[in-house]
Amino acid sequence: MEHGALGSNTGLLMPDLPPLLPSPDVHVVVLSGPSGSGKTTVVSRLLAESPVKLIKSISATTRPPRPNEIDGEDYYFLSPQEFEERRQAGAFLECAEVHKSGYWYGTLLSELRRAAAADGWVLLEIDVEGALAVMQRYPDAVSIFLSTPPEEYERRLRARGTEGEAFINRRLQTAERELTFAGRYRYQVVNGRLEDAVQEICRILEKIAQPS
Ligand code: 5GP
Repeated sequence: MEHGALGSNTGLLMPDLPPLLPSPDVHVVVLSGPSGSGKTTVVSRLLAESPVKLIKSISATTRPPRPNEIDGEDYYFLSPQEFEERRQAGAFLECAEVHKSGYWYGTLLSELRRAAAADGWVLLEIDVEGALAVMQRYPDAVSIFLSTPPEEYERRLRARGTEGEAFINRRLQTAERELTFAGRYRYQVVNGRLEDAVQEICRILEKIAQPS
């Protein structure tokens, strides 16, 4: 992978590629779901078990890294200025301020090219606003909304144990709002039992890869 920087340490691992539009026939899988929907676990299972080769897009964000998060693996951690420079250069497929947090997140076009170059389908784990933008640009995108039985939301969110009360409340509000967009996705999967949700998504992908 090519690496480049805009002159600060945080951007060092980010591919410094020109903002070319990726081929329109790149396979895009978009997965969204409220906090507590178990997205992260589902994604790691899919990366290992999907019937098609999935490559997870690494998003850029202005949020500071959490303990154990690695620049260039979990996210490309950028300063607000670096993010804005990338945005103005047209480097993002989509970007949004997520959870009214003041932090920006975005999918770099270079991530789509990275997946296509590796003969994979790119998997975007992004919020609803970003997902709607992607669906507009890629109408054939496989969009999946992962939801959770309501009583599970709060429990899972709190079980992480890494966040404060105000943060949790904001996420719960976002979850409520995001649920109203579930119908805009091509597929809705309820993550009641992890195993079932993973299998259901695998079946969806298999069917799209090999239509009968
Ligand atoms: P976290 O800060 O917990 O890692 O992620 C917060 C939220 O940001 C998640 O709900 C995730 O879906 C969303 N997110 C992560 N990357 C992107 C991105 O590239 N674009 C958009 N629009 N949302 C993202």
